[in-house]
Amino acid sequence: MNYQLNTSLSIALGAKTAQALKKSFDMHTVEDLLRHFPRRYAKRGELTPMDSLQIDENVTVMAQIQSIKKRSMQKKRGGILEVEVTDGSGFLTLTFFNQDWRERDLRPGRMGLFSGKITAYRSKRQLAHPTYLLAPDNEDLDPEAVETFARPLISVYPATSTMPTWRIEKMITLLLEGLSESIDDGLSPEIVSQYSFFSLYESFQKIHRPTTLEEVEAAKQRFVFLEALQYQLILLRNRLRYSEANAKPIDATSDSLLRTFDSQLPFTLTEGQVQVCNEIFADLAKPHPMHRLLQGEVGSGKTLCAIRSMLRVIEGGGQTALLAPTEVLAWQHFRSIQALVPEGITVTLLTGSMKAASVRHALESIADGSSNIVVGTHSLIQERVEFRNLELVIVDEQHRFGVEQRAALAAKAPSGLRPHVLVMTATPIPRTVAMTVFGDLDISILQELPQGRKQIDTFVVDMNEKPHHVERAWNRILEEVSKGFQAYVVCPKISPKLKEGENEENSDTSLNDVENILQYLSHGPLKSLRLAPLHGKMTSDEKEQTMRAFQAKEIDVLISTTVIEVGVDVSTATVMVIMNADNFGISQLHQLRGRVGRGEHPGLCLLMTTADADSTSRQRLDAVASTLDGFKLSEVDLEQRREGNVLGSQQSGFKSGLRLLRVLRDEFIIDSARTWAQSILDTDPELLNHKELRMSILALENQSEAEFLEKA
Ligand code: ADP
Ligand code: MG
Repeated sequence: MNYQLNTSLSIALGAKTAQALKKSFDMHTVEDLLRHFPRRYAKRGELTPMDSLQIDENVTVMAQIQSIKKRSMQKKRGGILEVEVTDGSGFLTLTFFNQDWRERDLRPGRMGLFSGKITAYRSKRQLAHPTYLLAPDNEDLDPEAVETFARPLISVYPATSTMPTWRIEKMITLLLEGLSESIDDGLSPEIVSQYSFFSLYESFQKIHRPTTLEEVEAAKQRFVFLEALQYQLILLRNRLRYSEANAKPIDATSDSLLRTFDSQLPFTLTEGQVQVCNEIFADLAKPHPMHRLLQGEVGSGKTLCAIRSMLRVIEGGGQTALLAPTEVLAWQHFRSIQALVPEGITVTLLTGSMKAASVRHALESIADGSSNIVVGTHSLIQERVEFRNLELVIVDEQHRFGVEQRAALAAKAPSGLRPHVLVMTATPIPRTVAMTVFGDLDISILQELPQGRKQIDTFVVDMNEKPHHVERAWNRILEEVSKGFQAYVVCPKISPKLKEGENEENSDTSLNDVENILQYLSHGPLKSLRLAPLHGKMTSDEKEQTMRAFQAKEIDVLISTTVIEVGVDVSTATVMVIMNADNFGISQLHQLRGRVGRGEHPGLCLLMTTADADSTSRQRLDAVASTLDGFKLSEVDLEQRREGNVLGSQQSGFKSGLRLLRVLRDEFIIDSARTWAQSILDTDPELLNHKELRMSILALENQSEAEFLEKA
């Protein structure tokens, strides 16, 4: 036995077990299983006789199962399993909630070791959800197994009902015993000695079989660093590829389009806009594709930078594309760009739900080059969309586009050339996050808001504590409309229909959805106003018409879902009421309220909630109400959310997301991994002398590509 990392599980554990692991966890190799790290570690006491069990103590008892009983819980679904065990000196009850499947194992008569914390329930001592090891029917426990079970720290693995943690533990024990000591992950001796990492072999041993938790943490460091290094290698190699690829250099000497455009603007550019555009223009002038991220607070005027960049490219004879995350936003960009750009420039809209004839017409003008600016949703990525000479791609509100989507669009440039790419986002991103998610891009930041931007006041309205404030919210809308302004009411859902798995009691008929709210307001508090719904289930024509009517002030109040979340720009809308605001995340709320107060009139945002005053949801709302600084909010957000979500595959474009790396905590590691990655690539850009690293990042890249193809 000398297992390598890539030894197949069927060789190490037999075909049947391997099959089960494949089914449960999609594991194939020894490494896959060894990288299945414990979810947590249970502390276990010495064997304790049952007549001396103390409340709150961690204990392990050896005992025989006497009886087993199933009870259903009042008011809740699911049941409780109560298992009575004895060691001759006393009795103890084991309880399991919603784990009826354990009934199969926990048969009366069987011997077992049971471990957990002693609690008291109705003056009886019990173990809730103990870990356990059972002997086969009519047999005693295997002495060796007893010894392993009595180790100080027990690994508890992510498990399924067919693949319980003790079974995983047993298999990992087998692997660790047969594991070759020479396994390697490609970290060089210099790196290992600089950070005093354990060898890879030791790291696995210590993570799965630790004696102390400190040891686990130390052993994990190697994997954290490796992960950071892999990411940085991927990102820096992408960057290297861009810098070697060819793009059409764009240095418009005449710039007449741009000058015409600027002279027709009703305002002057902010200093930030001028500077950002200059950074972009400098990139465009190079014979290699630009890959730049433009980060700018909600309302900072990123679109203007985009349009100016597009005009530069068009002046030089190229086509440009603007990719928006939603149809509403695509349509709005289409309209506002059309209104802004100088005469003679053709702007084309292409979205998924357009009628076949308009699509055909759009595709033609894109293919023959008569369309200068193409605005669309992700349908622009489709294969049938062919550009004549696409030279610049702008991705607006990037957080919904992954790395691969960018790549797919980039592939639409004329052969041999790649388009320049500008990604725009209003989500403020802490430095290390930017380095991890956008580490292949150069970054520009648009700090200031245009002059004369008014304040947005945000208040939390506690609907339980202060019901009369709800009435006042509707009155505020009436007041604003009477002054000639407009309003949004944002709801978490479209209709009150039950979500899957919800039962009658849970479904709420409260003001949570567009249909209900529209009903209520149009017959009640706002019956004198013109209301209209807007949500994702409407056809694109309907959405378009509604937005057009709203912009033309034929509608006073839009009752909408978050389709208006990003980018919607109607400067006469001044109030936003967000129903059940605790349903939304921090950055979402920040984005949403960015829709009001966009003109020279102050905005008002009311966050309606029934969340308890001291709940975390309420803290989120209070945070949003307390500041307009998106950067501060994104930090609160990161602290509150699991980072996995922040950096989920959607955003990072990597399927696995991050396994161990934590972008806030691991700043130092990310920094040093980037430096190491750079120095590795300096001498070995193709990683020819770094086989393990090359293979592992290839696997990561393939994984994310496969995932992308699946989705598409
Ligand atoms: P965001 O950065 O959130 O995408 P937009 O590009 O939608 O912001 O711009 C928000 C609003 O500010 C738009 O109505 C736009 O016309 C306006 N705007 C952009 N630049 C300026 C400026 N320099 N001065 C005044 N208003 C501006
Ligand atoms: Mg925008």
